[in-house]
Amino acid sequence: MKVFAFAALAFATVAAAHAQDYPGGKTINIVVPFAAGGPTDRVARDLAEALRKPLGATIVVDNVPGAGSSIGAAKVARAAPDGTTLLLNHIGMATIPTLVRKPGFKVETDFEYLGIVNDVPMTLISRPSIPANNYKELATWIAANKGKINLGNAGVGSASHLCGLLFQSATKTEMTPVPYKGTAPAITDLIGGQIDLLCDQTTNTSPQIEGKKVKAFAVTTAKRLNTPLLKDLPTLQEAGLKDFQVTIWHGLYAPKGTSPAITKKINDALKVALKDPDFIRKQEDLGAVVANDGRIEPEGHKKFVAAEIAKWSPIIKAAGVYAD
Ligand code: ASP
Repeated sequence: MKVFAFAALAFATVAAAHAQDYPGGKTINIVVPFAAGGPTDRVARDLAEALRKPLGATIVVDNVPGAGSSIGAAKVARAAPDGTTLLLNHIGMATIPTLVRKPGFKVETDFEYLGIVNDVPMTLISRPSIPANNYKELATWIAANKGKINLGNAGVGSASHLCGLLFQSATKTEMTPVPYKGTAPAITDLIGGQIDLLCDQTTNTSPQIEGKKVKAFAVTTAKRLNTPLLKDLPTLQEAGLKDFQVTIWHGLYAPKGTSPAITKKINDALKVALKDPDFIRKQEDLGAVVANDGRIEPEGHKKFVAAEIAKWSPIIKAAGVYAD
């Protein structure tokens, strides 16, 4: 017994010494559970850039798309808890437990929480050829085209899926879902006219709205936005969809069991990154708001996700929109 106790102590001491060295010249992978070029990817790449200096490491973004973020999140849940594999994911961490029966990971117990990064509004956009130029005209077009409308999403459990389901429920219309590995490929098809509608983060839609490649009809937040590009868009609540409100947030996670010394180093670096003026400007230009409250602490992040799960579960169930 004594030998085992000694071996365990020696192992713990070595592990603690490694944690002190972290990152110790190792490359850090941030897994993005969606396709490259989309909104979650955009946040991760900007964040990787801002984390490089405070962490003193090479940081690589690894796109592991599929199943509305479940595949990438499950990969990180099973990765070695040594701080070299992290996950950047969005509100899916709070809606997947209700939307997806077997996601392959447990949000509450499979991760160390490292802090919330930002909040991002969504916009309701369409292919450019839709004969509507404001929400009222869009609503008329939707009513006239019942059963014929294609609505893109990034897979069951994704933000676009959630937003699209709530939109169909609020407008009492059924649309045909067209799933992609992320909203980067979805928006390409929207621009090309292969799909009709998409609900997506401003971090992806702003450049396309500005370039007039898509039409924008409304924002999903409770209040209008104040960026010059989006300030004239009505909220969906103003457009008559009572209580409609979806805001996407992104958080950083490590596999459960990552040592407190490592998670503290990452959280300290994250807090430096969230104050980086370059990172803040890039995010604000795209309509995102960088986190600056108790949620940037691991405890606050965990509490927030638990509160979001509790908030979304009854809404999803009441709308009858969960996936079997
Ligand atoms: N915006 C996507 C979603 O609908 C995800 C992405 O491609 O970043 O969840």
